[in-house]
Amino acid sequence: MEDRLIPVTSVATGMKQSFAADIHCLTIQVVNVCFVGHPDQPQDWVLVDAGMPKSTDRILEAAAEIYGEHNRPKAIILTHGHFDHVGAVGKLAEHWGVPVYAHRDELPYLTGRKDYPEPDTSVEGGLVVKMSRMFPNEGIDISEHIRPLPEDGRVPHMEGWESIHTPGHTEGHISLFRQEDRALIAGDAFITVKQEDLSKVLTQKQEISGPPRYLTVNWKQARKSVTKLNSLNPKLAVTGHGFPMRGATLKENLEKLDSQFEQIAVPKHGKFVGDEKKD
Ligand SMILES: [Zn+2]
Ligand SMILES: [Zn+2]
Repeated sequence: MEDRLIPVTSVATGMKQSFAADIHCLTIQVVNVCFVGHPDQPQDWVLVDAGMPKSTDRILEAAAEIYGEHNRPKAIILTHGHFDHVGAVGKLAEHWGVPVYAHRDELPYLTGRKDYPEPDTSVEGGLVVKMSRMFPNEGIDISEHIRPLPEDGRVPHMEGWESIHTPGHTEGHISLFRQEDRALIAGDAFITVKQEDLSKVLTQKQEISGPPRYLTVNWKQARKSVTKLNSLNPKLAVTGHGFPMRGATLKENLEKLDSQFEQIAVPKHGKFVGDEKKD
């Protein structure tokens, strides 16, 4: 799976941005990874998600730029286990010697016990949906490093943050929320680019969207998860794909997605539509 290279690179590739003193985001190809922790405390940070396959070096470089050389994170937290969020996780965990945390329900896909269903290429959408055929759906095995997140919502090494189970896109998908400044790291629970549309992915045109269609397995849960996140009234949302959204734009868009989820997010047809039960 490491050898399968996905030929998609967005305008934002390699772009590093900071959204709060302690939230830094790097876009690699089409997916975002987050570095959470203040650069003034370079021993005390975590990485959220681990990008596309082959992005190990790029993540290490960015980490060195933010926290200085040789300052490893305390842990890696995964929003979920899809290939574009775990690409470098094995190598990074090995290199840094740090634990990786994910929701209990996601562990089968991270310990080699289960594969995700194949991408649903029958949902409507453009070229990316067709290309998704090439996307690896195999679970990975990082048994040596992976640990379940605490059930009470605490996030190890992320003081003030809470993990929120937001299933639908995958069974064990989580989002991370910090009450103090209402910052949200949403993973793929909703995203701010229409991931099915190649031209929008390439230009990263901002547009609120449900979870990427071709990989989402339970739309009923996905809808509930969006409602849950909307009710938190976040001020900043860093999503797995697309540029972060904040303030009034976020509020307006998230409310729209919540109230018109059926029209905006759910594909009209597809193998997981109307299928409430998975596996
Ligand atoms: Zn995903
Ligand atoms: Zn994703």
